[in-house]
Amino acid sequence: MTDKRALHVETPLIESRALSAHAGRPVWLKLDALQPPGSFKIRGIGHACGEYARRGAGRFISSSGGNAGIAVAYAGRQLAIPVVVVVPETTSERAKALIQQEGAEVIVHGKSWQESDELARSRVQDSDTYLHPFDDPLVWDGHATMIDEVAMSGFKPGVVIVSVGGGGLYCGIVKGLVRNEWSDVPVIVTETEGADSLARSVEAGCLIELDAITSIATTLGARKVCHEALASSQTHPTRSRVVTDRAAVSACGKFLADHRILVEPACGASLAIVYDDPHELEEFESALVVVCGGATTTLEQLQAWSKNPS
Ligand SMILES: *Cc1c(COP(=O)(O)O)cnc(C)c1O
Repeated sequence: MTDKRALHVETPLIESRALSAHAGRPVWLKLDALQPPGSFKIRGIGHACGEYARRGAGRFISSSGGNAGIAVAYAGRQLAIPVVVVVPETTSERAKALIQQEGAEVIVHGKSWQESDELARSRVQDSDTYLHPFDDPLVWDGHATMIDEVAMSGFKPGVVIVSVGGGGLYCGIVKGLVRNEWSDVPVIVTETEGADSLARSVEAGCLIELDAITSIATTLGARKVCHEALASSQTHPTRSRVVTDRAAVSACGKFLADHRILVEPACGASLAIVYDDPHELEEFESALVVVCGGATTTLEQLQAWSKNPS
C-alpha cells in the first residue's frame, strides 16, 4: 500500500514501556521524528510538492525557517526542482544550515515571519509554486497517511495525542481517522502557553489571532490556526490542552532518556500529557502519541532551556 512515489517513509509504530508505565495503559508511539528531514512535515509537504511537480511547477518557494522549510527543501531535492526559502533574521544558524544542506537557496529577510512571507509571495513567478506550511488540503491529505499506516497495523488507538501549530497536522490526523472509519477515536490537541491559538479559538468558537508568540516552542507559533482546524475541532471529538514550556522541555529530556530520540519542545508538548497529566488518559484503553519530531533543536539548546525555561 506504500506509494512508491511518496517522499516520506513508513515510520515505526511501537509500544512504549516507559510511557505505558506512566499512564497505566498501553501508550503507542508513531515515530515520525524518524522521517529523513526530521519531522512528519514531509508527509504533507512531500505529497503537495509531488502533486505540484506533476502540474508543472518549475520552482518551490517557502517562507518557513523551521521544519516546513526543511521539508520543502528535501522534497525539491528529491524531485530535482529548485527551492527558495525566505527566512526571518531570527532564524537559527542550524535551521539555515539544514535547509542549505538540502540544496535549497536561503534568503534572509525581515524581522518577523510575516515580512519574510511577504517577500516570498512577491517572488512567485508564473512557473513557481508557493508552499503553505499548514493551510493546504494537499498537505492534510499527506499527513493523513500517518493514520493509514496505523490502521494497516491493526492497532486501533483509544485516543490520539497530537501537537498543534497552524493545525495542518491535526487536520490530517482527523482526515486519516475519518477515511479509516475511525471517526469515534477522539483526539487530544496540545499547545504550549503563549502559542495556544487553537485552544483560544476552541474556547471562543471562532478564529482568534494571538498578538504575539511568547512560547519557546516557536514551531507551534502560528498566531492563527487554519480555518479547517477550528472546523475539525467542532465536528470531530477533540479536547484541547495547554502545557507550559517547562513541561514541554522536561518531556523532551525524559523522552531522550527513555527512547534515545531528541525532539523539539513542539513535540514535547504532546509527550508532556503522558508524563505529567496521565489522569487525562484514564478513560481510554490506550493512547497513540504522534512523535512529530523536529530537526532544529540541539542537545545544547535543550539543556539551556532546562536550566532556564523562558
Ligand atoms: C510543524 C510542526 C508542528 C505543528 O504542525 P502544524 O501543522 O503547524 O499544526 C508540530 N511539531 C513539529 C515538530 C512541527 O514541525
